[in-house]
Amino acid sequence: MKLSLVIPCYNEEKNVSLFYEAVKKDFSAVNFDYELVFVNDGSRDGTFKELKKICNSDLPVKIVNFSRNFGKESAMYAGLREAEGEYVTIIDADLQQRPSIALDMVNTLDNEPEYDCVAAYQDTRNESKALIFFKNCFYKLINKFSDTEFTQGASDFRTFRRPMVDAILSMDEYFRFSKGLFSWVGFKTKFIPYTADERATGESKWSFTKLFRYAMDGIFAFSTTPLRISTIIGLVTALLSIIYLFVVVIQKLAFGINVEGYATIVVLILLLGGIQLCCIGIIGEYIARTYIQTKNRPIYIAKEVIKNHKYK
Ligand code: UDP
Ligand code: MG
Repeated sequence: MKLSLVIPCYNEEKNVSLFYEAVKKDFSAVNFDYELVFVNDGSRDGTFKELKKICNSDLPVKIVNFSRNFGKESAMYAGLREAEGEYVTIIDADLQQRPSIALDMVNTLDNEPEYDCVAAYQDTRNESKALIFFKNCFYKLINKFSDTEFTQGASDFRTFRRPMVDAILSMDEYFRFSKGLFSWVGFKTKFIPYTADERATGESKWSFTKLFRYAMDGIFAFSTTPLRISTIIGLVTALLSIIYLFVVVIQKLAFGINVEGYATIVVLILLLGGIQLCCIGIIGEYIARTYIQTKNRPIYIAKEVIKNHKYK
């Protein structure tokens, strides 16, 4: 098998058959074997039913059916695990990412053996100014905080060679932030620009709060700089308070000034309390992640894995 297309699907009942048709059309001229690995991420609509219809295809089709919604990160991991191809492409089910681009990626890997991965990044985005601003801030922040490199705008729409897939699978951590994992494993990635199309049908599953949480996950998973920042804030506050202590003592002893204290004390207590709670929160984020990771729960639970008649 030369290529596996891994397609995470969550509530995409209207899109999966459109996606399948698009792949068949764009791949009609190819002369290599490829399979479709759909991951049904606990969809609440008729996605699973639609996927089973696709199983009648004359192409090899696999469905990994999750027991509930585990999120796109888990779906991608499951898809990579089930993929048998020499190359593996991760592509969305909503047709925002054209299958023909996946074909370009395969050609690139064929013609440029020095690359292990081809990743698409969005050069122009049809997003609100505020969202673009926050995304820019996130990439600036995480690249400052982390030794792992995060390429701005890089999507999960990628094609890997097998050794890179195996490297990604060898990292079975629970809190998965794939953009970081893809970069952490190393290998050579070629970035190609693309413009995302409109969603075929349905709505994006990303709300602003979800994106914010995802961004935080990325920072906590790939950097311990927040811990260092809290140490630095603690040191700076301690230093300032020592300086202030000298000022107050000198004022009292040398000039006999009685420093009016009430407002200062209230402000300082609140400020220090706030800083302390914030630092405890940061430590808590790491401890909570360690706690959950130590349970060693699986990244996903599949109810069943269905393979169609094209597999032996
Ligand atoms: N997806 C998934 N599980 C989720 C959310 C999304 O498998 O919990 C899939 C979804 O079906 C789609 C892809 O991930 O194929 C990208 O999702 P979406 O289109 O909502 O994200 P966007 O394109 O807006 O970034
Ligand atoms: Mg989408």
